[in-house]
Amino acid sequence: MEMPHARSNRRQFVKLSALAAGAVMLPSRAMAQAPAAFALPALPYAINALEPHIDARTMEIHHGKHHAAYVAGLNAALEKAPKLKGKSLEEIFAGIGSVSDESVRTALRNHGGGHWNHTFFWNTLAPAKKSGAPSPELLKAIEASFGSMGDFKKAFNETATKRFGSGWAWLISSKGKLRITSTANQDNPLMKGIVPDADLGTPLLGLDVWEHAYYLHYQNRRADYINAWWSVINWAEVSRQFAAL
Ligand code: MN
Repeated sequence: MEMPHARSNRRQFVKLSALAAGAVMLPSRAMAQAPAAFALPALPYAINALEPHIDARTMEIHHGKHHAAYVAGLNAALEKAPKLKGKSLEEIFAGIGSVSDESVRTALRNHGGGHWNHTFFWNTLAPAKKSGAPSPELLKAIEASFGSMGDFKKAFNETATKRFGSGWAWLISSKGKLRITSTANQDNPLMKGIVPDADLGTPLLGLDVWEHAYYLHYQNRRADYINAWWSVINWAEVSRQFAAL
């Protein structure tokens, strides 16, 4: 938006710069040094795009309230862990052990994990009509690891159903093989030194089985939510991540 007075503002800025270069430069240098805080990413589809499998109201609260709270909590925790400010989430996970304050460590684990997990979750979902299917290469790897697509689904469903309380079920790539794991709360398979080594790997799929992910629509019927989730997996994205391993 070109304001009528923009030109005179620019002229004034140039004049100020010439008069006091140091003073004018300082704020911009400080801004360049200050790491950008984490921000809530927009959903890659409309809020109601996953209906009827995942309803718009659940998505609205899950993304707009729960995920937003993890982002805010992560940014607040980073204020108390200045050495990790400006780092990627993966670097933050690796650096949690170096933070001396236990409450800050816990906040980074819970909120950092919450931000990573939900961002990953949204990106591996798609409207049912765009869900697609695993690439031939991914399907082959699933069959090699689990026997068949049906056996894979059965094993994944069992892990997701059995996760007691809040947490996630995952399909991970670990040492060249696909495996199904589960983590509690907002932990994830990237958290070396936090989750058991057996659960570590590169996530390809993650299913949020916190009650906040399904309770409004499915109430206590977690199994129905898990079955519905298979209809809205973004297989193109999962296959892309598999190909990039
Ligand atoms: Mn969630």
